[in-house]
Amino acid sequence: MNIHELIRDIPDFPKRGIVFKDMTPLLANSEALVLCADRLARLCPDAIIIDKVIGIEARGFILGGMLAERLNAGFIPVRKKGKLPSEVNSKSYGLEYGKDVLEIHKDAITAGERVLIHDDVLATGGTAQAVCDLVEELGGIVMQCNFIMELDFLNGRDKLVTKVASLLSY
Ligand code: AMP
Repeated sequence: MNIHELIRDIPDFPKRGIVFKDMTPLLANSEALVLCADRLARLCPDAIIIDKVIGIEARGFILGGMLAERLNAGFIPVRKKGKLPSEVNSKSYGLEYGKDVLEIHKDAITAGERVLIHDDVLATGGTAQAVCDLVEELGGIVMQCNFIMELDFLNGRDKLVTKVASLLSY
């Protein structure tokens, strides 16, 4: 099965000039969904123990949860401003198409825990770097950032000091 064929380009969404990588056809295909989660889990070397998987709102929640199950790790949501109910740490960041604020619960990570960060797309790297900062502020260790897709031409990988792995490159 070719996961690549189940990701479609939506031109000019959410803004003119952006080609949005829409993974909803992949999510809708049960076989592709399982395959994608299995392959993402394999991007993480066997020898590495992961305590927590972070999924970035919102598309990072879906495969992030499946990854946590496969890696025997807990799942932590990193959410947009104002969505998490308890005490949070916040970080503002730049997007390929705008600016935003991400938040994590202050008690989500214990110092020394090994964390894998997951999102659907690595574009400029601003989002993932903001989440790395949030993890490190809580004393967590970022073991890997992993993505379904990477937009090579935006060089997001160069912005991240941690290990980066992705299933597909554009
Ligand atoms: P960035 O911070 O620039 O790496 O952007 C990554 C975040 O924005 C991820 O949460 C993606 O879901 C989203 N994103 C950025 N560019 C795209 C794109 N072309 N298609 C789909 N999602 C995107």
